[in-house]
Amino acid sequence: MPHTENRDTTGFRENVDLMVDRAIALLALEPGIAHAIKACNEVLQVRFPVKIRGQIEVFTGWRAVHSTHRLPAKGGIRFAPYASQNEVEALAALMTYKCALADIPFGGSKGALIINPSLYTTDELEKITRRFTLELARKGFLSPATNVPAPDIGTGEREMAWIADTYKHLYPEDINYIACVTGKPVYQGGINGRSEATGRGVQYAIEEFFLNPDHVKQSGLEGNLEGKRIVIQGFGNVGSHTARFLSCENGALITAIIKSDGALINDHGINIDDLQVYLTENPSIKGFPGATYTENGLDVLEKECDILIPAALENQITLKNAHNINAHVIVEAANGPLSYGADRLLNERGIFIIPDAYANVGGVTVSYFEWIRNLSHMRFGRMQENRVKNTLIADLLERVSGEKLPATMREALLKETTELDIVRSGLRETMRDTYQQIKHTMATCEDAGDMRTAAYITAIRKIAHSYQDIGVY
Ligand code: NAD
Repeated sequence: MPHTENRDTTGFRENVDLMVDRAIALLALEPGIAHAIKACNEVLQVRFPVKIRGQIEVFTGWRAVHSTHRLPAKGGIRFAPYASQNEVEALAALMTYKCALADIPFGGSKGALIINPSLYTTDELEKITRRFTLELARKGFLSPATNVPAPDIGTGEREMAWIADTYKHLYPEDINYIACVTGKPVYQGGINGRSEATGRGVQYAIEEFFLNPDHVKQSGLEGNLEGKRIVIQGFGNVGSHTARFLSCENGALITAIIKSDGALINDHGINIDDLQVYLTENPSIKGFPGATYTENGLDVLEKECDILIPAALENQITLKNAHNINAHVIVEAANGPLSYGADRLLNERGIFIIPDAYANVGGVTVSYFEWIRNLSHMRFGRMQENRVKNTLIADLLERVSGEKLPATMREALLKETTELDIVRSGLRETMRDTYQQIKHTMATCEDAGDMRTAAYITAIRKIAHSYQDIGVY
């Protein structure tokens, strides 16, 4: 293997490639297959004009398709001023590995538009999003069968609803039009549990970690999540849900939250509900009464904690600050928050890293459920009648035992299974099963070592099988 351990590249795609190369070097792949797996199949770049406040503005965007060994290709669309083709290609590649790892039958794709959404009104953003959608659809980069976007940085349910509606007007004869995008509002073809799915998946990933005592021991931690000190970078979709679940449901202490405008610190734990209310009424975290504010967010990444969760941007921990990271475990809720060099150094320092390809797979998992729901044209659970059967079981139990079931037990047995119950149990199962697959690779593949390398090995083996089964032509 080439000696790359001390390299630190700034390019996101190069970082992902180096991490993947490390896994590929440990696999005996047929010559050429590795190259085929790594190559990004297509990248569409668009430039389109939109009239904003009487002036013509030209916007630039991309949609990269990394792999189509499974269709549709799947991946979010981000709206960010710093978006670039390099970043979009890296994110598309990550989607390929992530889907393969979690047995989600999709290829990998990603899109981005260079824009600072905060500079535009809602009406203007709608106009720009609809115009971008036209470009993607007309050029074959949007369809329920081949390419299905989802939310990412700077986009959410609202933008997904605009995309679905624009596609419907373009292709009204496509009976599955609503499946052209996921992450839609529930009343617009979305699925219960999608908006919080990535954060929920991060919570389940950490819970799985604590169910594996050998990994907990390796990290130097003990016990469970209760009382653990957690620092989270990012308080958008992923960061805010993760923070709320871990503090309200697992009893963890969120000791710092880092945003682009600074950070909040409270060693006794920040009240996440209070912070969310505060942010609906105030534009900045500055002034939040339940914590101390500091301007330099990057410094707070180095604060001593049990678990550090980067949930904002890529390349936040590099060789510049990796030496100073003071956490036992890093959970990559964001895509690519560690550079390749930082990843190697942190591993050498014994910090346990739960990689992005696994940690944030909850989003695409529930997107998969939404896509299936859209193709079936029916919400999950609608045709499942468990109540009658479970009433029979409860009655039978009482007759056999000669005793009345406790009221709470009968109630739980007779409770109707909601779509949210089904989504959560499907997500939990996916996170559990995927963790065990990675752990199996760590145990059986000599030199796999860390969880990221094992995750990539697990994913690449499956993609390679798929190439071998269908052949390359
Ligand atoms: P978002 O736009 O909702 O939130 C981004 C957050 O990052 C905001 O709180 C913002 O203040 C913060 N931020 C931006 N620049 C920062 C900086 N320099 N320092 C500190 N904080 C900064 O985005 P999101 O959807 O929560 O996505 C966050 C990450 O999770 C991204 O890497 C994304 O690719 C990844 N991800 C998102 C999903 C999803 O379903 N939304 C799924 C998988 C992965």
